[in-house]
Amino acid sequence: EELTELRGQVSIYEDKIQKLESELESTAELIKEDPLTHVLNRRGLHDVFHVEMTRCERRNVPLSVAMIDIDDFKRLNDTYGHQAGDAALAHIAKLMRDMLRATDWIARYGGEEFVILMPETDMQQGIIGISRVKTALAGLPVPYKDQLISMTFSAGVTQGVLPEKETDMLERPDRALYRAKAEGKDRVIGEP
Ligand code: GH3
Ligand code: MG
Ligand code: MG
Repeated sequence: EELTELRGQVSIYEDKIQKLESELESTAELIKEDPLTHVLNRRGLHDVFHVEMTRCERRNVPLSVAMIDIDDFKRLNDTYGHQAGDAALAHIAKLMRDMLRATDWIARYGGEEFVILMPETDMQQGIIGISRVKTALAGLPVPYKDQLISMTFSAGVTQGVLPEKETDMLERPDRALYRAKAEGKDRVIGEP
């Protein structure tokens, strides 16, 4: 009898857990912002990508995208600690918000990798915009405790061939970024 009673309780809890798990899942789907940097997360980027792609195609204006990766970020973490690394990520995100246009979209794509979506911007203008962020960062190191930590990034920029699939459009800046790293980092490279 006791065993039957216990089995009953277990199944009640299993149901509850299942319900909580599905609630958690649907909540996660609603979160489109990265909590550390307050820019879009990957899911948020995916949503705006679709909207901007459609809008720019209809208006017949260019759409550019940049992929940015912080240089030697592992070393920064190893030297100053993980908290300093987190502060550096928040710092660069804020700098990008300040330096880029209000209509540009900033997303944290991975650990220390950002994607910038620039509507009504061709590749040359995109390179200029991202280079402006790079110059600003050179003059504004990360303030952490009583130190100033210098940091650089590499970037690849491309212009969309509209309409284009998100994955296809991200492939070119990714390749350009790879080249920027191979050619010595701390640079912005365009790939049409
Ligand atoms: P490269 O110049 O080639 O890009 O070298 P890298 O060191 O920047 O690249 P690598 O991919 O080797 O290391 C990335 C590091 O970023 C490793 C990981 O610990 C760190 N990282 C990723 N996400 C976070 C985060 O949220 N906070 C902190 N503090 N560090 C992070
Ligand atoms: Mg990386
Ligand atoms: Mg890196």
